[in-house]
Amino acid sequence: MNKSPDAQRMEKIVSLCKRRGFIFQSSEIYGGLSGCWDYGPLGVELKRNVKNYWWRVMVHERDDVVGMDGAILTHPEVLKASGHVEGFSDPMVDCRTCKARLRADQVIEKKGIRQCPNCGGRDLTEARPFNLMFQTQMGAAADESSIAYLRPETAQSIFVQFKNILEVSRKKLPFGIAQIGKAFRNEINPRNFTFRSREFEQMELEYFCRPEEGMELLEYWKEERLKFYENIGISRDRLHVKTVPDEERAFYSKGTYDIEYDFPFGRQELEGVAYRTDYDLSQHQKASGKSLEYFDEETKQRFVPHVVEPSAGVDRTVLALICGAYSEDEAPDEKGKMETRIVLRFHPRMAPIKCAVFPLLKNKEPLVSKAQEIVNFLRPHMNVFYDESGAIGRRYRRQDEIGTPFGVTVDFETLGEKDAALRDTVTLRERDSMKQERVAIKDLASILSARIS
Ligand code: ATP
Repeated sequence: MNKSPDAQRMEKIVSLCKRRGFIFQSSEIYGGLSGCWDYGPLGVELKRNVKNYWWRVMVHERDDVVGMDGAILTHPEVLKASGHVEGFSDPMVDCRTCKARLRADQVIEKKGIRQCPNCGGRDLTEARPFNLMFQTQMGAAADESSIAYLRPETAQSIFVQFKNILEVSRKKLPFGIAQIGKAFRNEINPRNFTFRSREFEQMELEYFCRPEEGMELLEYWKEERLKFYENIGISRDRLHVKTVPDEERAFYSKGTYDIEYDFPFGRQELEGVAYRTDYDLSQHQKASGKSLEYFDEETKQRFVPHVVEPSAGVDRTVLALICGAYSEDEAPDEKGKMETRIVLRFHPRMAPIKCAVFPLLKNKEPLVSKAQEIVNFLRPHMNVFYDESGAIGRRYRRQDEIGTPFGVTVDFETLGEKDAALRDTVTLRERDSMKQERVAIKDLASILSARIS
């Protein structure tokens, strides 16, 4: 069967991710651990750029948000109060023929008959709830009292620490608490590369407010979050806002938007923005017996704040960036013959490496030492890469393939051998247009910093 262009594109992306060190299957040499992924040297840079930019715009550039970093191991009472122990499950179906474990929504129905999507078998069990939380044991005693969970979302530690953070930060409503960290879900069928993983990272903000501000803030945060994606280079026409209908929304939510992205495997959720009312804080107040109320100095009222939550996935954002950036075009090779060029067109702000520095020839000491001098003075400003091996065109191609937006070449003109006026200038090449300009070495750091910030 011929694969669709989207499926082929996805295959090329997965293969590029492995070949160039963005993402590897976890425990690969042992056959792989399903639903877990390891980020390689370039992947980790990309991921950090996403998280750092999120933290910059959501925490550092605002007066009304502070951060926290909570524990992954979670007290069972926290997750009982939040409803996760009881209700955080997906309906699961087993195929008795091929033994596949399926999410109920993956089962095919033909003329009213349920079929296994793997083997076509019709002998399927009834759907039953499967809790998605990873349970573990703390300490030496392996009994009921030692149960702990790996958190299925970062949000709960924010709610549980609400009172402490309110006191130490002395913030007034509305204000938010932000967190980036790992979350774990025992997904029945991890799939679509990193899209549905069992271990992943979230970037969550809980923005606390007065009840009457909730609906307006839901709109506000939806817009802010769309701006975020555009500012990291995700094109607006691939982003979609789905208003989650009443019947699909959590019972306590008064409004939820899903921000979706057109992945090669379909339109899927990147982030949820939900108005969760006072459900979470009220639940924890009830279960812990500790007041989680806010005292309004002006009106002298005491109440449990409401909350709006933008909750994004780091891994899904990274995957959207890679899928959106992947492109193929034509560029001349060493002999001027056109060849296919693979380019990751990352926004310079997100690119793992910002600038590559090349001496034109590796066996000419003055070129090499000048190039290394440039690397050393650019390093405090950005992530740079030095490469002296192979023809210059091939070096450009290697950088295009990993999305490096700028390339600097040190040539004989830099040494002032042809024209004294060009001494201490270099060619600066831009990845997408492949245009080259001549710039003074002393201006490089400021020119590049302005383009990548
Ligand atoms: P889905 O419907 O795709 O399972 P969800 O609605 O359960 O997602 P939320 O609980 O709203 O997801 O989590 C917030 C964000 O965390 C999601 O928008 C997504 O970016 C990320 N996320 C959730 N589950 C996973 C997963 N299994 N793998 C990777 N990222 C995830």
